[in-house]
Amino acid sequence: MTSPRRTFAIISHPDAGKTTLTEKLLYFGGAIHLAGEVKARGQNRRARSDWMKIEQQRGISVTSSVMTFESGGITFNLLDTPGHEDFSEDTYRTLTAVDSAIMVIDAARGIEAQTRKLFEVCRLRSVPIITFVNKVDREGRPTFELLDEIADMLALDVSPMTWPVGMGGTFEGILNLSTNQIARPEGDSRTFQGKTEAAPMLPDAVAEEIELAQAGYAAFDAEAYRNGDLTPVYFGSALKDFGPADLIAALSDYAPPPRPQPAEPAPVDPQEKEVTGFVFKVQANMDPQHRDRIAFMRLCSGTFKRGMKLTPTGHGKPIAVHSPILFFAQNREVADEAYPGDIIGIPNHGTLRVGDTLSEKADVRFTGLPNFAPEILRRVVLKDFTKTKQLRKALDDMAEEGVTQVFYPEIGSNWIIGVVGQLQLEVLLSRLDAEYKVAAGLEPAPFDTARWISAEDPAELKNFTDLNRAAMAKDRDGNPVFLAKSAWEVGYVQDRYPKVKFAATRER
Ligand code: GDP
Repeated sequence: MTSPRRTFAIISHPDAGKTTLTEKLLYFGGAIHLAGEVKARGQNRRARSDWMKIEQQRGISVTSSVMTFESGGITFNLLDTPGHEDFSEDTYRTLTAVDSAIMVIDAARGIEAQTRKLFEVCRLRSVPIITFVNKVDREGRPTFELLDEIADMLALDVSPMTWPVGMGGTFEGILNLSTNQIARPEGDSRTFQGKTEAAPMLPDAVAEEIELAQAGYAAFDAEAYRNGDLTPVYFGSALKDFGPADLIAALSDYAPPPRPQPAEPAPVDPQEKEVTGFVFKVQANMDPQHRDRIAFMRLCSGTFKRGMKLTPTGHGKPIAVHSPILFFAQNREVADEAYPGDIIGIPNHGTLRVGDTLSEKADVRFTGLPNFAPEILRRVVLKDFTKTKQLRKALDDMAEEGVTQVFYPEIGSNWIIGVVGQLQLEVLLSRLDAEYKVAAGLEPAPFDTARWISAEDPAELKNFTDLNRAAMAKDRDGNPVFLAKSAWEVGYVQDRYPKVKFAATRER
């Protein structure tokens, strides 16, 4: 029998402590034995790629990865999401492949812009959230203020599971509210080294706070948490080892195992025998000499066995997956078997795309993996006109990876790219140069936003496209797209053409 799975992501604003927490979860989960290894490994890996110099310069991570560890008989799959303020669809899509998330908040800063944005994506998918208020070893905001802010800004019930006894200079430990045990700091480093105490004497002020909190906040309710209506809140310090063990226990005890996934013709239950999964991310090989890609597939049902043939729904022939990759924290291991909730990397030469469903029989299709409306549009200007073909290949490749979107206008030869964050523009130029040897620049486009259009009556669609040819383009897959000068224009044409549907996202 296979062990239960917990597939989750950590969401946070940059600097809240995601990397530190990841490292400690892997450490406490027994996957690594030296703190610092996560970053060190990351840097080795990054050094291999030219375009990832951006990451090094900015000290950020543009790509996501997958880390697997086992603890207490449970297999944890941690999907990393870039924490930078600018992110691509990659981040959103990674969140479509998890069953739950940990939200890390800096105790001195509370809910920040990025936390909120990522939280909204989780809510869209009903992904339940465990909250971790980090850095209580430093002076932070009052505990009640933090809890109320989470409740107000995210419209969630909060249920404190642990309580900080002092913060910063007065920090004396973390009290577990259900067991009444306190974890104490020890030694000069003031770290947690296993020292606990039952029914401790607390300063009066803290005892009062706790009494108030227990009367004032919702008691933990596992079902409300799993429905995404309530978040259990843990306090701690990833740096000083307070919290990681609590979080592993919380994931084990409360976080949902793999759930049925939305699909057509019917949702797919993890118990189903047939192997199914969907690709939520495609990553070009770090080695610019090779054009191999790795498609990251989340397994949704069945037992995957190495060598198995899987068919991408809607296009392509069955592909035999001879060398799938599992992502263990220490190194990548070749997978022989994988189970629902697991992520496998499938090497391929560009046949697999983000949003693809893979299955043994090819009669299902997972839904709800949206293409997001690009928020920034730019015209690509080629500096060497003999490189048109290479440019097209590069833009198609990157669109396929879900890094950028590409639009080919009906009129004129200026291709347009769309991204969700500014940083993707730099990544694009840098990769064009390093991987495809194409020198290009970006210019403002005369458009501000894009909408995928459709209509029940083909005549209506044709009428619309004929009358608006100057604003029409095709996406990578040949779907018609209307490029608008402003959100206002979208509203305007929508009113004038009620039979045409304008979609800000395109589901695949
Ligand atoms: P990320 O950007 O969210 O991945 O954040 P990092 O894990 O890189 O942490 C950002 C900074 O906060 C680093 O300097 C960490 O050492 C520091 N940090 C992380 N966790 C804690 C904590 O619990 N206490 C304190 N005092 N600092 C922390």
